Amino acid sequence: MRRKTRQIHVGDVPIGGDAPIAVQSMCTTYTRDVESTVAQILRLEEVGCELVRVAVPEMEDALVLGEIKKRIHIPLIADIHYNHQLALEAIRQGVDCVRINPGNLIHGRKALEEIVKACKERGIAMRIGVNSGSLDALDKQAQMQRIQIRRRSDGVVERSDPAEERRREREQLAERMVNKALEYISWCEELDFHEIKVSLKSSAPLTAIEAYRRFSQRSDYPLHLGITEAGTLVPGAVKSAVGLGILLAEGIGDTIRVSLSAEPEQEIPVAYEILRSLELRNRGVTFVSCPSCGRVEIDVIEVANEVERRLAKVQTPIHVAVMGCVVNGPGEARDADVGLAGGRGKGVIFRKGQVVRTVPEEEFLDAVLKEVASLLPEHEARLVYPEGGIKESAGRHRTRDEGITEIPVLRK
Ligand code: SF4
Repeated sequence: MRRKTRQIHVGDVPIGGDAPIAVQSMCTTYTRDVESTVAQILRLEEVGCELVRVAVPEMEDALVLGEIKKRIHIPLIADIHYNHQLALEAIRQGVDCVRINPGNLIHGRKALEEIVKACKERGIAMRIGVNSGSLDALDKQAQMQRIQIRRRSDGVVERSDPAEERRREREQLAERMVNKALEYISWCEELDFHEIKVSLKSSAPLTAIEAYRRFSQRSDYPLHLGITEAGTLVPGAVKSAVGLGILLAEGIGDTIRVSLSAEPEQEIPVAYEILRSLELRNRGVTFVSCPSCGRVEIDVIEVANEVERRLAKVQTPIHVAVMGCVVNGPGEARDADVGLAGGRGKGVIFRKGQVVRTVPEEEFLDAVLKEVASLLPEHEARLVYPEGGIKESAGRHRTRDEGITEIPVLRK
């Protein structure tokens, strides 16, 4: 069961309540470089980003937000630290939300109150972000006590349990994060401001999980989930899937960002994959492909990767399977909207459970994409299967007897 939160709006995107869990990202450009920032946001929109945040470190960045906003189609969030004047200018420029960590505003509560008043006047939302890294690190004493060795009066040496110590430290840190967030919320509520969402991020998934769980027991403000500084593509995606996945499976979370040391466009498919895996969103392609093994009769890895790449911009929910042999292939392919079950140098194409045709290996890509396109609305079909067909096909052939060999490029 999804936890019931109060609903707020960031621009026209509802967050919380029964709204779909929204997917967001953050630009890596210098915000003042309007052309690059707008171009990156438009690329993010194409792959399904629903809210976008930009860093506003200086006034030059704040002053271009209005121009950026005019040229994009999703809500714009200004990320502000230290200087509340930047937030006030961002709000004047028409952003849809400001992300603040009240703990690092130079003028503290007074600055937050000015921002809240400006948000109220404009009717926009605020994210209160408390990151574990922005709280004091564990105090020295706690660190020294992490592994405690003591000699009892009978001479026996006792050691504390490091795992138990880490758990206790994690709980204390999470509690402090939650208390800080609740304190900042109370400052906003005293000004009758409630358009708030909250993030309690940490680069350690277990700390973030602990903090979000605790918060959700004590407040119904919507939550922005994230594992901050999660790392490069693979470790970051895995850490995010574990951290966010556990929380989402418990019904916690109203909007998510997967933070990767990668192009922000790569964060979006990871986020949707997490949500699709938990059946919380069904946007785009649910993709099934086998890892291949010694039974494989086609180069399934290459075909699968190419099909996935070609379908990256599809938003219509569709289930596609690419399978390497007759053991599991026909079953999975039949269950999908469109499926390919490989055989020796050829493959069977399924559509909605029915065999459509058998094609040679050099036509796999063409055949799968043509079937997928036939199930999509016209504007998406054109992206997947352009007029005139697919100009190049997956280029390798694999059988047990012949190994892997190049196959000629298919031109239609
Ligand atoms: S579908 Fe066939 S080729 Fe693919 S992993 Fe399973 S047994 Fe191996």
